[in-house]
Amino acid sequence: MKLDLRPLLAGDRLLNFEYELMPDIDSQDTSSFLYGVSFPSPMKVKGDITNTAGYMRMHLTMQLEYNSFCARCLSPVSGKFSLDLEKTVAPRNLLGDLDDTKLDDYAIIEDGFLDMDEQLIAQMEMEFPVRFLCKEDCKGLCQKCGKNLNEGPCTCSSAELDPRMAPLKKLLEQMKKEENNKN
Ligand SMILES: [Zn+2]
Ligand SMILES: [Zn+2]
Repeated sequence: MKLDLRPLLAGDRLLNFEYELMPDIDSQDTSSFLYGVSFPSPMKVKGDITNTAGYMRMHLTMQLEYNSFCARCLSPVSGKFSLDLEKTVAPRNLLGDLDDTKLDDYAIIEDGFLDMDEQLIAQMEMEFPVRFLCKEDCKGLCQKCGKNLNEGPCTCSSAELDPRMAPLKKLLEQMKKEENNKN
């Protein structure tokens, strides 16, 4: 979506906008920040740009429902992601001397138009969660038998101890013994 800011540049004081946008990001691409995430409905974008004597400020909110998977137990996870974004809006020719890091603070008008989608995707890339959990204390899957440990313990977890853990177990028993001797 490209917003026509020419009325604001000509002196209008307020521009409201509201639209929907389907995220155009390949979530099958493993290098994408949205790998494994899908969207059942488009982004809902809403906001305004105010113009106070030539100083323009944009405020927008975006909401997006997503479907993904728990990073530990692989069960489906869905939820709602939202963004709240505020930026100063300025024509490129007024920002000539700023370096790239400072330019990130601005929404830049090119030839009278503002590319909203670019801003949204860039912000989303910074704030979208890297991974999801079905719940904070998800127990995950047993590494041996693959059972979902949220549904209860599996038989292999208690029966045998990982040999790499044996020295630690000995140490813990030793400490316990010393503790008992003190009392
Ligand atoms: Zn989980
Ligand atoms: Zn198991």
